[in-house]
Amino acid sequence: MIYETIAKLIFYAKYHLDLHEDDEIYIRNSILHELQLDSFPSKKIEINETEIIELNVPDKLIDELHSYFINELKLSDKETELIETKIMGILTPMPSEVNCKFYSLVKKDDFKALSYLYDLSIKNNYVAKTRIDKNLFWKADFGDKYLEITVNLSKPEKNTKDISKLLVKSKTDVEKYPKCLLCGENVGYFGRLEHPARSNIRVINLNLDGEKWFLQYSPYGYFNMHCIVVDSIHENMIIDEGTFRKFFDFIDLFPSFFIGSNADLPIVGGSILNHEHFQGGEHLLPVMNAKIKESFSSNKFKNCRISLLDWFNSTILLQGKDRSELIKCAANILKNRRDYSDIDNDIISKVGDVEHNTITPGLKKEKDGTYNLYLILRNNRCNAEFEDGIFHAHKEFYHIKKENIGIIEAMGQFILPARLITQNDEIKESLKSGLNNIDIIAKYPNLNGFEPMIDVLRNEYNPDTIDADIKNYINDVCKNILENTAVFKNDDKGQMGFVKFIRSIL
Ligand SMILES: [Zn+2]
Repeated sequence: MIYETIAKLIFYAKYHLDLHEDDEIYIRNSILHELQLDSFPSKKIEINETEIIELNVPDKLIDELHSYFINELKLSDKETELIETKIMGILTPMPSEVNCKFYSLVKKDDFKALSYLYDLSIKNNYVAKTRIDKNLFWKADFGDKYLEITVNLSKPEKNTKDISKLLVKSKTDVEKYPKCLLCGENVGYFGRLEHPARSNIRVINLNLDGEKWFLQYSPYGYFNMHCIVVDSIHENMIIDEGTFRKFFDFIDLFPSFFIGSNADLPIVGGSILNHEHFQGGEHLLPVMNAKIKESFSSNKFKNCRISLLDWFNSTILLQGKDRSELIKCAANILKNRRDYSDIDNDIISKVGDVEHNTITPGLKKEKDGTYNLYLILRNNRCNAEFEDGIFHAHKEFYHIKKENIGIIEAMGQFILPARLITQNDEIKESLKSGLNNIDIIAKYPNLNGFEPMIDVLRNEYNPDTIDADIKNYINDVCKNILENTAVFKNDDKGQMGFVKFIRSIL
């Protein structure tokens, strides 16, 4: 019965979402309106309070609402999703109250404050924890370094061309509201057919380098407490000295997190280039455990250790405790990097007015106060041989991943598309039945492009180890993709070029 569901939701919000007793009737009336009801029984409704206290996620209550909307009100799935989110938004404290509680906690312990917002975002169903927990996750070991591989069940797959289109479109989308998925105007936005429901999102206001930004959690969540830090103004991504100052402001406020940014050019950037934002979280990405290959000292930056990392792509690590010197050093590397060409290594900084060089940066602070600033060198030039990018995943790996290699991947965690789960099952089925490639594609058109992978697996086919064999194959592809993105390859010519570049900035 719907009144019982309402009573449960109110009790849930009192226990899990800080609903104040004085606001109970007001909130209940707001929910009645959303459910197209105009009264509530005066007799107390008995509910199982212990069961609600023990809920870690609101799924059970949302399921009850869902069946009411579908069966009683005959709403469509999209309408149902919008109103369910609206109700969870009504049950969540106002943005100002969330900020007030967050900042009272941050004074004592930044992690407590960040956990408060994370827990609130799970409890009000903004972060869909149950769905995230279904993602596959494994570690790909390569001896002295490793990658993390996840298969994400909720993120739609995009390609580099869609993302470039988005950037062009950003110049004409002034009339759109909200202008994009990251804009602050999403807070409390009901949503519509082509724009997701955001009634329940809550963000924390930040001051980074004198600018108004805000922090929210990612609804997809690739790793623990995956947050997005967003500019309050809708403007294109740009990596400059200000980016580094903002990183340090963020990390000084939240030393338990890392912060990083996608590069600011298509192909080597993230999926949203038209709104400046960073990514962070409570997670050590694999590059943060990579070993140092070679260190350099500089007369210009005496308090800053400059090193090349033993990593799949071209990564510089700056270390030290002097934030202003680290910022200057990073800005100097970025400035030199923008105009740096190395024809032997296929690196051309500009073609006409079009820039190709940029950096994917990330920052983490150690317990002793040492900052580790990671600068991954990127280049997005295309040529006839590699029309989607010389330093992008090459075509032979598209069956596993064709999307941009953004910061999370560049730093060692691969987010692979959900389609792979079905495709892997189809491969196993095909090999078990002993089909040839032509019959496989006829039966499973989805596997078009997987023929080389199937050939490799067929060669050493063993039904007992096939799952591990598929994982090993995927691990190698991910490693190869990261090596594709290395502007200085891990061979003599590449490494000589890398050291030459470093020496040019010391
Ligand atoms: Zn925006």
